[in-house]
Amino acid sequence: MNDYQLIVVGAGPGGYAGAIRAAKLGLRVAVVENRETGGTCLNRGCIPTKALLHSSQIYHNICTGQHSGIHAETVHVDMEAIFDHKRQVSEKLSAGMEAMLKNAKVDLIRGTGTIVASDTIRVTGTHGEGTYTADDILVATGSVPARPPIPGLDLPGVMTSDELLEGPGQLYRSMVIIGGGVIGVEFATFYNDLGCDVTVIEGMDRLLPTMDRELGQNLALILKKRGVKIFTGSMVQNITQDGNGLAVNFIAKNVPDVASGETVLCAIGRKPYLENLFSGNLIPEMNGRSIRVDERYQTSIPHIYAIGDVSSKVQLAHVATAQGTACADMLCGRKNSVDMNVVPSCIYSRPEIAVVGMTEREAKDAGIPVKSGKCTLFGNARTVIIDGDRSFMKVVARADNRQIIGAQLMCEHSPDMISEIAQAMANHLTAEQLVLAMRPHPTFEEALTDALEDLLDKLG
Ligand SMILES: Cc1cc2nc3c(=O)[nH]c(=O)nc-3n(C[C@H](O)[C@H](O)[C@H](O)COP(=O)(O)OP(=O)(O)OC[C@H]3O[C@@H](n4cnc5c(N)ncnc54)[C@H](O)[C@@H]3O)c2cc1C
Repeated sequence: MNDYQLIVVGAGPGGYAGAIRAAKLGLRVAVVENRETGGTCLNRGCIPTKALLHSSQIYHNICTGQHSGIHAETVHVDMEAIFDHKRQVSEKLSAGMEAMLKNAKVDLIRGTGTIVASDTIRVTGTHGEGTYTADDILVATGSVPARPPIPGLDLPGVMTSDELLEGPGQLYRSMVIIGGGVIGVEFATFYNDLGCDVTVIEGMDRLLPTMDRELGQNLALILKKRGVKIFTGSMVQNITQDGNGLAVNFIAKNVPDVASGETVLCAIGRKPYLENLFSGNLIPEMNGRSIRVDERYQTSIPHIYAIGDVSSKVQLAHVATAQGTACADMLCGRKNSVDMNVVPSCIYSRPEIAVVGMTEREAKDAGIPVKSGKCTLFGNARTVIIDGDRSFMKVVARADNRQIIGAQLMCEHSPDMISEIAQAMANHLTAEQLVLAMRPHPTFEEALTDALEDLLDKLG
């Protein structure tokens, strides 16, 4: 008999969820983890960034409360305390996760796992080395920041999000962010709110280039109004030392330009992490840089499965969790599948952004007959009360069967609203069915009814 029925490598949101589900279904399970429990999400990703944004939002609210009669004279930022708060949040959640693993009777093995055979893992750590056998192995080793071959990226003062979040916390006078995707935009919001002079350089023609065009364009207008310098269609050539700071040299529409900053954040994406994970002849088939898996999350090596950032095209914590749970279910003979067409994705900028499913453009490009309804929130009571920036909601439906196939929401609390659309999509609801629900007043969500009414007008 093997030591375990399932060994999971990596205790991020994917590995943790898979391990707990498998243990609850009766398997003997262990998780191998070489860093903090909770993975990137709890320690270097979702949670620390939102903790930082919570602090900068409080500062922003205090400094801009005049419209509602609040005047503050002596507000100051204590960056060390902000980073301490972030650390405490991560540690609290990480400890909670360890307790849940313990309650579920999942063994947590500390160290770096190397798969030496399809049923054997060697774990090396500060406590020495151990070898464990398992019927099945689930790889959930996540991802790390990508480092493109840009000359100067190794200069002191150039950081990835990992290094920035793990650092002591410093209020920079100026920062250049390479990459205008989700991570770049969230850090731009945080540092700009705290008074840092922020420049964002994005290679594509707009911020958030993988999302609906209007989202990135609207966010760029709002950030520019707040003083953020934004260069799109701009390719970084190199980074050089510039006095006490750094100069990022880039080409925008064939014209060389330069942005200077005390520090540079490189936020141009993440790559699957599988360094030294497989030993000897054990090499799984790859799909680009990700491990290739089938619909059961099985790799090309029998009894070895992979989920989350290491194998998924969509790198999000809730995707990793859903895949970990589904994989454990299937290993235990249960039915489960993750619908990758219904994956909400959120950005904690101000206003917040939340999307799910297709944009109108994507549907048209795929040959799907489509209509979209839109509502701006200028007249929305909650938006007027908070003196909010330009916000809108779009809902997309098939023109033939009127089913909802996507939505793009840009307004405060949209990440807490997008599940309503995901729910509709998962259950194939039509625009008529979704508009039926009464939405409370005054809420941001009321605008969804207006967007749906507009959609129904367009559907005819
Ligand atoms: C700055 C930032 C902000 C983000 N914000 C969000 C957000 O708001 N919402 C969202 O959904 N997603 C967000 N993400 C993405 C999210 O963090 C990841 O999609 C998610 O953590 C992936 O989960 P995972 O379980 O696949 O891997 P990970 O969370 O990366 O966990 C993998 C774990 O495996 C461990 N490990 C790796 N190799 C080994 C080995 N050989 N032996 C032992 N242990 C090993 C690692 O140390 C790590 O702890 C963000 C990411 C970043 C970087």
